[in-house]
Amino acid sequence: MKYRIQIILVAFVMITCAQSCKTIDATIGAKDYCRVHDQKMKKTRTFIKYGLRDMKNISTDFFEYPYPKINHYGGCVIRKDRPRIYKYYYCTQCNKAQKKEKEKHESTTLY
Ligand SMILES: [Zn+2]
Repeated sequence: MKYRIQIILVAFVMITCAQSCKTIDATIGAKDYCRVHDQKMKKTRTFIKYGLRDMKNISTDFFEYPYPKINHYGGCVIRKDRPRIYKYYYCTQCNKAQKKEKEKHESTTLY
């Protein structure tokens, strides 16, 4: 019983350390306020994507809506020791506006 608790504790510490080591925290020292919509932003996280980038999903209206929810790309080299999680701030209004623009663009684009 005593060994089981120690094993569980060691596993918990290893998992916690592994998760924190593989995270890029872009909220440290970053402003949490959207200057466009004059509101406080929320913290969120996303999985970092590696490999070739899907050019169809690159935002063209970054300057108009600077803080939407994003897909974070870590580059084209795929390795196991790379960070997996990206923490950042996003603005709910920027996110809504960008989604609307994307829907409008998709409905008018012929493929
Ligand atoms: Zn905003």
